[in-house]
Amino acid sequence: MKISTDLTEKISTVIRGKVSIVARGLMISVFLMLVIGSLSATATEVEIDNLEPELGQLVIITAPYDLSEGEVIVNEENFPFRADEEGAVALLPISYWWNPGNYTLTIVDSQGRTWTKEELKVQQADFAESYLTVDEDQEEKVRPTDPEKQKRQQREQELVAEARAESAEERLWSSAFIWPLEGRITTDFGATRYHNEELANRHNGIDIAAPVGTSVVASNNGEVTLANDLLATGKTIIIDHGWNVFSSYLHLSKLKVEVGEKVEQGQVIGLVGETGFATGPHLHWSLSYNRIFLDPRDFVDLSEFN
Ligand SMILES: [Zn+2]
Repeated sequence: MKISTDLTEKISTVIRGKVSIVARGLMISVFLMLVIGSLSATATEVEIDNLEPELGQLVIITAPYDLSEGEVIVNEENFPFRADEEGAVALLPISYWWNPGNYTLTIVDSQGRTWTKEELKVQQADFAESYLTVDEDQEEKVRPTDPEKQKRQQREQELVAEARAESAEERLWSSAFIWPLEGRITTDFGATRYHNEELANRHNGIDIAAPVGTSVVASNNGEVTLANDLLATGKTIIIDHGWNVFSSYLHLSKLKVEVGEKVEQGQVIGLVGETGFATGPHLHWSLSYNRIFLDPRDFVDLSEFN
């Protein structure tokens, strides 16, 4: 009996030894697979997703981790790289106030040393022209003549600026943005706006017509930085998505969130209305990076962050 017990112990020791060698081998190969996998997913060179962007478009630049404290410089403006899952990322907003033409895009590291230079060919965009006939009552909401209203408007412009002044350091979204509702587009992004034949501005978002009371959802995860009833834009919501990306929802009939509230993509935040300067029930939806308004479609089409 004793012999067989010894034998069993010896056999099991040998088996255990083998198992542990096999297990170690497995662990090493899994580890190697992970390392190789992460290496192949890591950016090893600078990639610019569009070297011929149109006015109002968002350009995404991915680069090695070494550049995560670097910057992109175009048109004498600096845009930071940020560390992200697969390397460094910079968002480059092509403002619709820029002139089309060739620009030098310079990428510098954290010491300001030039890493690379590229030529960026900024294209004219096919923006629509939008003419509105505005009555005095409506005009008063945009450019008030009443001193009380002028004061109110100034206060509210400061509120809006404050709502976009500070942004979460981390990226709060992990997938592409979504449309806040479905409907007919009545005025598109970038449209040149004329009020009573006078050049008023460029349209900084997309107007989507929908009946009063239609649900409006958050385009992406974030934190509410403004939920207020304003003279020009009516009931208004601004959401911070981190990294200086903000979305705005204007002319609502009802606000369903409060300042400081965390929201998730798809969450109902308000209802369509025609409050403020509006000639019919619709949602005005806009997206900005570094306070530069961009075509929201570019955020819906984001694939780099999925
Ligand atoms: Zn609008």
